[in-house]
Amino acid sequence: MLMPTASYPYPLSGTQLPCLIDGELIRSARSFENVSPVDGRVMCTVSEADAALVDRAVQAARRALRGPWGRLSTAERCALLRKVAERIEERSADFVSAEIADTGKTLQQARSLDIPRGAANFRAFAELAMGRPAECFEMGTPDGRGALNYTVHKPVGVVAVIAPWNLPFLLLTWKVAPALACGNTVVAKPSEETPSSAALLAEVMQEVGVPPGVFNLVHGFGPDSTGEALVRHADVNAIAFTGESATGSAIMRSAADSVKALSFELGGKNAALVFADADFDAALAGTMRSVFSNCGQVCLCSERVYVERPIFERFLEALTQRARALKIGGPYEGADLGPLISRRHRDKVLSYYALARAEHGELLCGGGVPSFGDQRDRGAFIEPTIIRGLAEDARCVKEEIFGPVCHVAPFDAEEEAVGLANDSRYGLAAAVWTSSLQRAHRVARQMEVGITWVNDWFLRDLRTPFGGVKLSGIGREGGMHSLAFFSEPMNICVKL
Ligand code: NAD
Repeated sequence: MLMPTASYPYPLSGTQLPCLIDGELIRSARSFENVSPVDGRVMCTVSEADAALVDRAVQAARRALRGPWGRLSTAERCALLRKVAERIEERSADFVSAEIADTGKTLQQARSLDIPRGAANFRAFAELAMGRPAECFEMGTPDGRGALNYTVHKPVGVVAVIAPWNLPFLLLTWKVAPALACGNTVVAKPSEETPSSAALLAEVMQEVGVPPGVFNLVHGFGPDSTGEALVRHADVNAIAFTGESATGSAIMRSAADSVKALSFELGGKNAALVFADADFDAALAGTMRSVFSNCGQVCLCSERVYVERPIFERFLEALTQRARALKIGGPYEGADLGPLISRRHRDKVLSYYALARAEHGELLCGGGVPSFGDQRDRGAFIEPTIIRGLAEDARCVKEEIFGPVCHVAPFDAEEEAVGLANDSRYGLAAAVWTSSLQRAHRVARQMEVGITWVNDWFLRDLRTPFGGVKLSGIGREGGMHSLAFFSEPMNICVKL
């Protein structure tokens, strides 16, 4: 049975979640249902913004650039962002239960990662914007008087932020916070699967006095809906998008006519390399985390695990045993693994389980859906799955599955391991497990990815560059890289 959730009531039930446009909460005529992935219950309905509402949001954001917001100093803007962080922390119970209601993720994760990181994003980018170094160059001139060049950082303008459903609040705020810190105005669109924490963020923006039009929120779908209307809009200056690589391509096409600035954080098919000299237990625990965190729905998750031959069988056996022991359940049950985001996504992951069998892989555990005998059977739960024996060109080894699943294969030499890891159209993240300092540095820098972890996984310092190569993205965010994307530098040259 599900544990009572009375202490974590869904803070938005019984309502139609509104959009926030120009400081006004707007409930549109068209709406869609927000369904729980835990038990299939409809929790609320959500206002869908059509092209006309998207246009209103963009126009409001444009006006706000010219209003009081545009005249604030960086210090004043950042003080407001710190208030946003504080208010998120004050309302963290609401945010945690909203995030859990939409995603079914475990209470432990929402409480320790998703929501605190959302608040931290506002604080971190406020600090970074305050500490942005000034740039100044003196130059000589033929008349000997010289000139002084200095850079001012202007906002890019109206920024569209489009976020996915896997870490909804963390990833939305990861872009909204630096965009605002740099003085832009924002029209944000969360995933249609996860509107709730964004709806609470809209409330917080109002509560702390962010001026109307500075942060606008529109709900809806992607193609032929809110998302497409937003990225096509001629008056949007930049798009910061996180999601699937194929969606990135579609957005690029939509944005091409008005030549918008793009920052893309896209999919991954990440490799973990486990060398025989690694600390076995640490590598095992780390790989469990990197495969199964958030039910495998993290862009950084390892879906390809390569293990050096001498420890291959032992590692695979231990990994399989641990995967079998994972407790699947609802968010408040102390489970290790919650549901996938939706039945639709579960069908996709299950189709890869079937494909793995068809491609002559051996499923060592999982491969199906659990049965609870209660309302959770109407949810989107799935078994954690470990596969061996696939060819390197099998689709299950090449394509992003985005579920609690990995393929494990042996390697014999370091060079071979590097080749296997890099033989991918994606290039987001890699994990290297070794106790050799030389090997760690040598292998890490050969990885064709945006981030390599050595002897850990998903350890994030918000000041560092984050992003991917190949199909995994365009550009970098994080630290000064975010500030660079969300600003237009202008040089002023003063003749002395
Ligand atoms: P998705 O691409 O289906 O959707 C992401 C967002 O884009 C949603 O808000 C959706 O409504 C919107 N969208 C879809 N089509 C659109 C269109 N044509 N125009 C405008 N907007 C559109 O992704 P998802 O399924 O929500 O998220 C999972 C994917 O995100 C995975 O591929 C994962 O690897 C990736 N991801 C990447 C990172 C990263 O940092 N690189 C982080 C998290 C997730």
